[in-house]
Amino acid sequence: MIKFDIETTKKEEFIDITSQVQDIVKKSKIKDGLCLIYVPHTTCSIIINENADPNICDDILKSLSILVPDNKWKHDIIDNNASSHIKAAIIGCSQTIPIEDNKLVLGQWQAISLVEFDGPRTRNVIISCQS
Ligand code: ZN
Repeated sequence: MIKFDIETTKKEEFIDITSQVQDIVKKSKIKDGLCLIYVPHTTCSIIINENADPNICDDILKSLSILVPDNKWKHDIIDNNASSHIKAAIIGCSQTIPIEDNKLVLGQWQAISLVEFDGPRTRNVIISCQS
């Protein structure tokens, strides 16, 4: 298991971690297996989607904000970030990607991103590769 930190800089943002994950897979020397990408947090997520056009990242954040407006939830009484928790629950805290020939099996337009919903914060990313 490998862990690394990501420093987010905005309230909400996508941070592409594809190259870091691919480097970990390469060093694992695993030919065929699975790679788990996980964040031990309740207000950020791991997503696989396009990052070639950064507009899609903005569109995903905007669409989630339309689905989940701020300041109308029970948890807001405690620490005013219920919408961040709900968005993170929708996207999820992990992804699993096949490994083939010691590489992640990703489509041409697929990238792995950490999605911050309550930044800026230091986020821990955990990678576990298994054959
Ligand atoms: Zn909270």
